[in-house]
Amino acid sequence: MNYDVILIRYGELALKGKNRDMFEETLVRSVKSVLRSFFKIKVRRNYGRMYVELHGEDAYEVMERLKRVFGISSFSPTIQVDPDIDTIKERALELIRQMNPEPRNFRVVTRRADKRYPIPSMEVNRIVGTHILRALPKIKVDVHEPEAIVNIEIRTEGTYISCETIPGPGGLPVGVSGKVLLLLSGGIDSPVAGWMMMKRGVTLEAIHFHSYPYTSERSLEKVRDLAQKLTKWGGTIRLHVVPFTEIQTAIREKCPEDYLITIMRRFMMRISEKVAANTKALALASGESLGQVASQTLESMDAINKVISIPMLRPLVAMDKIEITDISRKIDTYDLSILPYEDCCTVFTPKNPVTRPKVRLAEKFETALDVDALVEDAVNRTVVEEITTKPREVVSDLF
Ligand code: ATP
Ligand code: MG
Repeated sequence: MNYDVILIRYGELALKGKNRDMFEETLVRSVKSVLRSFFKIKVRRNYGRMYVELHGEDAYEVMERLKRVFGISSFSPTIQVDPDIDTIKERALELIRQMNPEPRNFRVVTRRADKRYPIPSMEVNRIVGTHILRALPKIKVDVHEPEAIVNIEIRTEGTYISCETIPGPGGLPVGVSGKVLLLLSGGIDSPVAGWMMMKRGVTLEAIHFHSYPYTSERSLEKVRDLAQKLTKWGGTIRLHVVPFTEIQTAIREKCPEDYLITIMRRFMMRISEKVAANTKALALASGESLGQVASQTLESMDAINKVISIPMLRPLVAMDKIEITDISRKIDTYDLSILPYEDCCTVFTPKNPVTRPKVRLAEKFETALDVDALVEDAVNRTVVEEITTKPREVVSDLF
C-alpha cells in the first residue's frame, strides 16, 4: 500500500491558548528535525492534528523515526482520498485487506469535521461497513473491542482513511521544559535518567568527569557513544568534559578515605552548578536511585546537595535496578553501558565508604583543600563537544 500521509496525534497537549501553540510549534520542529535529513517530506498542522506528507517516501521508515519523537501519543499511516462515498468505501476495503494478520472483526469510525459533507457520519459508517462485510466473508463487526478500526476523517483540507494506530513514545516535545544538565557517567543509570528527562520535554546537555590517565581514552569514547544514543531522541547534545584527576588526587592526599566519595561528589556538584549557570541550564540531573549503592542514601544525597542551590533532579530515585535496566535495553544504551571500561569513581573507590556521611564532617575535611581554586581551575579547563545525531567517527583530540 502506498500511503500518502502519516497522521500524528498528541494526546498530552491538552493545553490551551499560547501554551498550546508553543507545544505544537515545538513538536513540529522536533518532527522536522528527525525526518528532514533523511526524507523529502512536508510537515503540516491543522486544528489539533499534524500530518507528515510522504511524497513517495516509505511510511514504515518514517514511522520508525517518529517512535522516538516525544510528545507524539500515536500515529497512523494514512491514505488521502477523494471524498465521494464510492471511493471512500473501495479504498477503506483495500486498506483492511492488506492488514497482516487479517483482522477477525472491525468497526468503522467516521469523523465529519467538514459539516458541509452531505452524508452524516453514522451513514458513512454503515455504507463502508456493509461494503467490507460483503467483500470479506469471514470478517465480523465488533463495536466494543475490534481488532481493526477503520478511521475515516472527512475534513475541509482532505478526506483521510487509516486502519492502523501505532503508539508513540508519549511525553512532551523536547524543548518545552527548558534545559537540564545531566551528570553522565558510563554506567547504566545516568543515560536512562537523561532519557526520562527528555521525555518530559527537557533539552539536554551533559557533563562528564574523567580522570585521565587513571581512566582511559576508551572510557570517554564510551560516554560520547552513550550521548550519541540519546541524540536520537532529542537532537544534538553538548557534552562538557571536565578534567577531574587533580581534584581526586588532592582529595586522596588530604582527606580521610571513607569520605573520598562524599567529597568527590560535592566537587562534582559545585562544578556542575557553575557549568549549568554558564549554559543556562535550570537544573542538574543524575542517575541516582535511593539505596542502590552506599553513596546513594538520603544522608549522602543531603551531604552533596548542601553545596549547591540549583535543583538536582533524580528521575530514577524510586526505581528498581530491573526497571532501570529494562528502559536502558529499550533505548539501546544497555550494551554500551555494560562495556567494562573504568569510571572515575571506580578508580578511586575506597574500601569502606561512609554510608551516612555527616555534612559537618565533610565540611571540616574540605578545609584542608582550596575548594574554590580547584573548582575554578576545573571549570576553566572544561572542554565542550557537540554530539550530533550523525554516527560518530572514533577520533578524539582531547589528549
Ligand atoms: P551510573 O550507572 O549512572 O554510572 P551508578 O549506579 O554507577 O550510576 P554512582 O557511580 O554512584 O552510581 O553515580 C551516581 C550518579 O552520579 C550517576 O548516575 C551520574 O549521574 C553521576 N556520576 C557518577 N560518575 C560520574 C562521572 N564520571 N561523570 C559524570 N557524572 C557522574
Ligand atoms: Mg557509575
